[in-house]
Amino acid sequence: MSMMLMIHPDKCTGCRNCELACSMEHEGNFRPKASRIHVYTWEREGFSVPMMCQQCKDAACVTVCMPRAMHRNPANGQVELDADKCIGCKMCVQACPFGCASWDFQGLQILKCDTCDGSPSCAAICPTHALEWVEDTISAQARKRSFAAKLKNAFAEV
Ligand code: SF4
Ligand code: SF4
Repeated sequence: MSMMLMIHPDKCTGCRNCELACSMEHEGNFRPKASRIHVYTWEREGFSVPMMCQQCKDAACVTVCMPRAMHRNPANGQVELDADKCIGCKMCVQACPFGCASWDFQGLQILKCDTCDGSPSCAAICPTHALEWVEDTISAQARKRSFAAKLKNAFAEV
């Protein structure tokens, strides 16, 4: 059964536990800058949104990656990063419309969600279930696409 990470922005309190859990999972320490998930907060409007790779259908990060380090895994359909092939050109960082591929200046590596190999720590730690690891159904995909489209517009305005 195929799974996906679902965001429920209305449930996010902006606590950033997900960022801490992600950096601990991948780097072995609490370093939010090394997190593959980032929480954006709109102070005036009073809401926060956790953002991680949206697994775009036409993934710009894949298109621009010359050495094919960023690629779609045909087995599970996920966009994945092969760190051994990455040359650190940061084209994917420039290309991602959601800011979900970033450069780690300390670890000198591209940071992108890998769903913790199918057991995402962010979803496990989120106290309000703003992040959920759910079955990848047509309706879940539709909800995710609609949310991603709204967010893309919101990011374009700031
Ligand atoms: S890193 Fe960005 S462009 Fe690439 S699949 Fe994820 S959200 Fe889409
Ligand atoms: S930084 Fe790495 S993953 Fe990103 S486009 Fe360049 S080679 Fe590909």
